[in-house]
Amino acid sequence: MIRIGILGYGNLGRGVEYAVEANEDMELVAVFTRRAPASVKPRMNVPVVSVDDAEMWKNKIDVLILCGGSATDLPEQTPAFAKLFNVVDSFDTHAKIPAHFAAVDAAAKETGHVGVISVGWDPGMFSLARVYANAVLTNGADYTFWGRGVSQGHSDAIRRIPGVKDAKQYTVPVPAALAAVRSGANPALSTREKHTRECYVVLEAGADKAAVEKAIVTMPNYFADYDTTVHFITEEELQRDHAGLAHGGFVIRSGATGRNSEHKHVIEFSLKLDSNPEFTACVLAAYARAAHRLAAEGMTGCKTVLDIAPAYLSAKSSAELRAALL
Ligand code: NAP
Repeated sequence: MIRIGILGYGNLGRGVEYAVEANEDMELVAVFTRRAPASVKPRMNVPVVSVDDAEMWKNKIDVLILCGGSATDLPEQTPAFAKLFNVVDSFDTHAKIPAHFAAVDAAAKETGHVGVISVGWDPGMFSLARVYANAVLTNGADYTFWGRGVSQGHSDAIRRIPGVKDAKQYTVPVPAALAAVRSGANPALSTREKHTRECYVVLEAGADKAAVEKAIVTMPNYFADYDTTVHFITEEELQRDHAGLAHGGFVIRSGATGRNSEHKHVIEFSLKLDSNPEFTACVLAAYARAAHRLAAEGMTGCKTVLDIAPAYLSAKSSAELRAALL
C-alpha cells in the first residue's frame, strides 16, 4: 500500500480523497491543514493534523500530496515539505515553473526525496500532449484552447473591482478558430480570435453598472485583449446557475511530414471535465504512485510530468501494460 497524506483541504484536497479511494494500492493516512484541525472534516475517518506537527509523520507517509494554491501556498510549501516527504503538487503559474523547479529540486536533493511539480491537466496532461505532438510532428504549429470553463484567476480579478460583490468568468474557445485549426490550415490566430470571455457579475447595492462593465472589459492582461461580455445577475442566480467547476480544452498540433511533403497530419487531445479539481486530483494520485516508485529506485530531486515514463503512473505491471494497452 502506498501511504498518502493530503496537505490542504480545499477543492483539490477533497478531490484527492476521492482519487485515493479509487486506487486500490493507496491508502489515505492523514490530512494536514493550517487551520484548526478540529474545524476541518474530511469525508473519510482519518486524523486531521496541524501542519506544525507534520514532521512527526515523516516515517508514516510515502507521498504527501500538496493541495494548496499556486499563488502563495505552493511556492513556500512544496520546497519546505520536500525536505520531509516525497511530494507532488499542481503548481500552475506557468511563467514561474522554472524558479519553483529549482527551489524544489534543491530541497528534495538535500534530503533525498522526490518532488513532482506542476501535475494536473494544464500544466500536466496538456503538457504531455504538447511535447508528444511536438516531438513527432516537427514541422507544424501548436494550439491550446481552454474551456468552456471557469477561470479562477479571472473571476478573482473581477471580484477586486469596486462595486462587485461576486463574479464568475468563463473562458470560451471560438468555434471558428477551432474549426480552422482542425482543418489543418495552420492559421495564425490572435489572442482575440482564439477565446472569448463571459462574465457573470453580482453588484453591490448602488454600484454603477456602466463603470463596472468598463473596468472589466478594459482591464489589461485579463480582458482588454479579448471580446468580453458582461452579464449582471442576482446573487441567487450566481449560486443556482454558476456554482460548478467544470473545465476542459483542446491541445492541437497540425503540420506536414516534412518541408517537402504535401501530407498533412492533425494531432488532437481534449478533455471535458465535470470538475476541474477532482480531475486534477486523479492526475495527482497517479503521479504520487510514480513519485513513490522513483524514490524506491533511489531517485532524488524535482521532476515534472515530462521526466516520468508512463508505466510509472499505472497500477498495472509493465507486462500487463504490454499485453493490454500497448
Ligand atoms: P482552494 O479550494 O482555494 O484551496 C486552497 C487551500 O485553501 C486549501 O488547501 C486550504 O488549506 C485553504 N483553505 C483555507 N480556508 C479554507 C476553507 N474554508 N475551505 C477550503 N479551503 C480552505 O483551491 P483549490 O481549488 O483546491 O485549488 C488549489 C490549486 O490547485 C489552485 O491554486 C491551482 O493552482 C491548482 N490547480 C492546478 C491545476 C492544474 O491543472 N495543474 C488544475 C486545477 C487547480 P488549509 O487546509 O491548509 O487551510
